[in-house]
Amino acid sequence: MQNIAKKWDWEIKEYKDYILPKGASIFEEDTDKEVSCASCGIRMLFGGTYTSNSIHDETGFGYGVCRECHSEEVEEREKAREKKQKPLFDMPKPKPEYNPDYE
Ligand SMILES: [Zn+2]
Repeated sequence: MQNIAKKWDWEIKEYKDYILPKGASIFEEDTDKEVSCASCGIRMLFGGTYTSNSIHDETGFGYGVCRECHSEEVEEREKAREKKQKPLFDMPKPKPEYNPDYE
């Protein structure tokens, strides 16, 4: 069985080849089967895995990852999103308008 997948890089927005830990799985009929987290390789039951946001097969389907890795993926995605929204330079704050009638 091929153990190479694709991992989405949120920074450059491209897939990179990714070597899966032994036992990583996309789908098991038996949710009590022991599989490996596709990201950190920790052994766990398939029923407890989360579908990865970044580790995919050729068809784009996500591998099972543990809860910790899943929340890291979500963080990475959010970070990349924030960066994208951030302006390239800080806009100067508009100066309060001078009102001659006020003085
Ligand atoms: Zn993990």
